[in-house]
This record gives sequence, structure tokens and C-alpha cells, in this order.
Amino acid sequence: MSTSLELQHTVGKTASLSGTSLHTGEEVSLRLHPATVDHGIKFKRKDLPDEPTIDARIDNLKMVERATTIGEGSVRVHTVEHVLAALSAMDVDNAIVEMDANEPPIGDGSAQPYVDLIKKAGVIAQEEPRKVFHVREPMHVESKTGTLLVLLPCETFRISCTQAGPNNRFAQFLSMEITSATFEREIAPARTFVYYEDVRPLMEKNLIKGGSLENAIVVRGEAVLSKEPLRFADEFVRHKILDIVGDLALAGRRIRGHVVAVKPGHAANAELARALAREQTRRSAMTGSHAIPIGDAGLDTGEVMKILPHRYPFLMVDRVIGFEGEDKITAVKCITINEPFFQGHFPGHPVMPGVMQVEAMAQVASLLLFKLTKTTSRIGYFMSADSVKFRKPVFPGDTMFIHAELTRSRGERMAKTKCYCVVNDAVVSEGELMFTFLDK
Ligand SMILES: [Zn+2]
Repeated sequence: MSTSLELQHTVGKTASLSGTSLHTGEEVSLRLHPATVDHGIKFKRKDLPDEPTIDARIDNLKMVERATTIGEGSVRVHTVEHVLAALSAMDVDNAIVEMDANEPPIGDGSAQPYVDLIKKAGVIAQEEPRKVFHVREPMHVESKTGTLLVLLPCETFRISCTQAGPNNRFAQFLSMEITSATFEREIAPARTFVYYEDVRPLMEKNLIKGGSLENAIVVRGEAVLSKEPLRFADEFVRHKILDIVGDLALAGRRIRGHVVAVKPGHAANAELARALAREQTRRSAMTGSHAIPIGDAGLDTGEVMKILPHRYPFLMVDRVIGFEGEDKITAVKCITINEPFFQGHFPGHPVMPGVMQVEAMAQVASLLLFKLTKTTSRIGYFMSADSVKFRKPVFPGDTMFIHAELTRSRGERMAKTKCYCVVNDAVVSEGELMFTFLDK
């Protein structure tokens, strides 16, 4: 199987599906539309004013109780995992999932209706290569409840899953490579299952208004209650694999790796997706060119100073090396012993203050936002810095590469960036910086 030159895919035409939503019990219709290259999967709430869209990515994860909920601002979409599993496994990278409710139709509790929908719409190749995450080193996530997810290097996307209910009832194991063919045949038909002891509390929490034996299997003691007999002797572990495929799709990339899952659940699946996305961002920050070119791609000191009002000794950007698309920038700052802060931080032991690294991130992010807004009449104000970490000291003589990536923007008002400072191929500091735009 090819691991490199795979292309992105979207659906060939719009196709629709309707049914009942699990949690609210409302009638909902879903339309799957083609989308352009690099669009990713976005949910569109056709029932709300302005028809907001929500990116199906891990940054937008809101809740993992029983099902996976994503949202932006006050807008939510619940139970996205089955439709995402089908899209991801059936090779759809780019699509708009338009709905007139806050949840896709539950169908029979499996991913089969979505696989059928995708086949109805057709899947077509696009001109750009697909984004793939190759697992290089083992990663893992575990919880106090006995859940363990390990991600290992592998040339294909493989899942080995052990599922076990209360008191280890219905312990099942299955290991398989996930391709569109195996997913359609072995995984997509596997239905949601619930344990009877869990059902009553769920109903009290109003979480399963549309629930019935038509869209879920209920397990009571050793008995399996469902309208139609089990589709596979090990249907439960198959559904667990289905949920893993759907939740990991929130990482936004095809995975080349082997997921070994013990008693998986949405919370752990989502945590693994988050770890994967974080590792991907870290890698992107590390792969910038480390020669320092002059020319068209970047901005020299004079050009930087035309945009930023900062001046020596507070200008923390020597040069912009380049932009990648609309949402990434790499800049460089040579740290010399002449920096005034070294005199006091600390005498005889010069170390660059962490806050100056954050200042450098903010200045570089501002340069990116300037490019984004394409206007000089509005200015981005630094609002907050979250998840700031200082990992290694920076010394005189170091060349610091500063990377900023736009992770979210809301209209003309707000932008969020993930920033890294890198010295000698190691991340020395990182943070998430938020900006708001105001008229000058
Ligand atoms: Zn599920």
C-alpha cells in the first residue's frame, strides 16, 4: 500500500439522509456536500441563524460523555463520531456535513447509513496530497478506569482492540487493518450498545430521548436485547473500533500507525487525538528551513519594522524567513550577549528571560495576523497567553527560530495562535497566544 503520494478526496455530489437524533429524539436531515482541497470536514448548522459551521477538529472538542460533541462559541454538534468514522474510513478528507439539527440521525446505531450515503455521493480524488500522520515513536494515553490506548509505528492504519463490560462481561478482542473495504464489511454495520444499568441514569440526564432497541443493543446481565439479532458474535468490539476511527478523525490527518486499545472510550480516544495533533504541530515547527534566506519569501528587518511599531531593544524579530500558506510563519532572532536584559538576568550567568520569548512569539504572531487582515487600519492586541511552557534555557549565541500558526480565527475580531521558539532543533518555549483586533 502506498504511504506517500496519496491524494485528498471529497464526495462526488451532494447526497442526503434523514432520521431521528439519538439524544433529542428530533427528526433531522443531513446533507453531505463536496468541499475543496484542505477544507477538512466541517459540520454546518442549517437550522441556526447565519448557518454557522464547526470544524471537525480536536480543538473544538466540547464533551465526551457517551458520545463526542464538538462546538465553537455557543454552537454545538453532538454525536459526530459515527459520521466522522465513515467519512475517514471511506477516504473522504474534505466535505461539508449540513444538518438541520444539533446531531446527525442515529440510524440503526451503526455507521452503515453513512457509508451508504457516501457511496451514493461517490468519492473522488483531488489534486493535492493527503495529510498523513506517521507514528514515529510510541505514544500512549491511559485512565484510572483501566483504559489504555497505545499508538505504535506501522505502515498501515491498524487497530487492535480489547473491549470488556462490567465485571469483564462480553470481553472481546479484534485486530485488523482499517481500509475502506474492511471498514465497510467488518466495522460499519456494528451497532451502538449500552449496558442496562447505564440506561436509566442516561434517561434521567435526558441523554437518549431518541433511544430505542432499533438504534442500540441493550445488554442486561448476560442477555442481549435488540430488535434484530447480533450482526457479529463480537459486534461490541467492532463498534468500539468504529468509535476509535471516528474520534481519531478529529486529529485531522490520516494515521499510519497501530492503535492498541484496551477498554477504549470517547474520552481516551479524544485524548489520543489531541496528543497526536499536538505532536503534529510540534513536528511542523521543527521542520522549518534552518538556513536563513533573504528574499521574496520573507521580510527583512526594514520590512518587519514597517509593520511592527517595536524598536531595539524591544524588537524581538530580526527577519521573517517565510510564510507557509495563510496561517503559518517562521521568523528568526539571533540572541547576542549585547541584549540589554542579559546585564541583569543574571550577572555572570546570562539566560534569556522567558517573558522575552513570549514577547518574540507575540511579535511574530502579529506579523502573521497583519498578513491575514491585509489592513493597516486595524491592529491586533495581545489578549492572553495560555499553556506557556519554558522547556530549555536560551543563551547568548543561540539562534532562535520563532514559529507561529493560526489555530482559530473568528471573523474580524479574534485570532488564536500556537507558537514555538526553537533553538538547535529543540523546542525551548511554547504557548497559545490570543489576539483581538481593534481599529487603530
Ligand atoms: Zn459509537
